Amino acid sequence: MSGKQTTLAGESLFRGIALHTGSRAILRMKPAPADAGIIFKRIDLPAAPEVKAFAGNVVDVRRGTTIACGAGKVYTVEHVLSAFHALGVDNAFVEMDGPEPPIADGSAEPYVKMVREAGIRELDAELKYWVVKEPAVVEDGGTRIEIHPYDGLKISCKVAFGGSPLDSQEFSEEITGEYFATQIAPARTFCLYKELEQLIRMGLVKGGSLDNAAVIHDGAIICKEELRFPTELVRHKVLDIIGDLFLVGRRVKGHVMAVKPGHPANVMLAKKILEQKQGD
Ligand SMILES: [Zn+2]
Repeated sequence: MSGKQTTLAGESLFRGIALHTGSRAILRMKPAPADAGIIFKRIDLPAAPEVKAFAGNVVDVRRGTTIACGAGKVYTVEHVLSAFHALGVDNAFVEMDGPEPPIADGSAEPYVKMVREAGIRELDAELKYWVVKEPAVVEDGGTRIEIHPYDGLKISCKVAFGGSPLDSQEFSEEITGEYFATQIAPARTFCLYKELEQLIRMGLVKGGSLDNAAVIHDGAIICKEELRFPTELVRHKVLDIIGDLFLVGRRVKGHVMAVKPGHPANVMLAKKILEQKQGD
């Protein structure tokens, strides 16, 4: 198993509205050296604090995955991480002028475009995967996620929200860069109608609208445009899993089998497989 670590060949920039804070946000992707991993940088704060995308830096998993280190805190990192993980970008700086990346249409498509715009280049350093050596399981309420040894990244996932045929969905595929770009990245964020009121009370989703999220209500899916896939809901859950798993700091080799996954269990799984010793 050989290969070289990668980073971006150049820079790219994206502007938009942040989902939870509702403020304008600019995100810039830049090349980083070997073994740096993915480093978020808050350039709006004094001394521009850096936060590495690592499971040990996760401080909140309500709705999105939040990481922090010292004065630096970054919300909703999972869609950016998902694009890097699936497209095979091992090292990059992500500079932001606020606490949250722009949400765009609630999918990972803009970040895929950014990576393609910047390009990917190899570094002179050996690529090391995080290889799942033995099965691991996490359970959290009705959620169960298993991961098994597998030579590649494969995700199987089941969701069920309201008990209608429309919102009970299944998915199982090997995740390659090309598959991700066309079949997973476009899947948008969604939320349950009954959760919305609570989210608003918590001061979240200030930038949320039907431009960037679908809403599930009484077994129906409410959104502005047509669904991008009949199984868009489960595909977005797969997108989130790929992003949260990259918090181990390397591309993962394993087969994830998830039932009703969410950020808390995804991050628990990342922490759990970090306990498995690697050979190097
Ligand atoms: Zn998501």
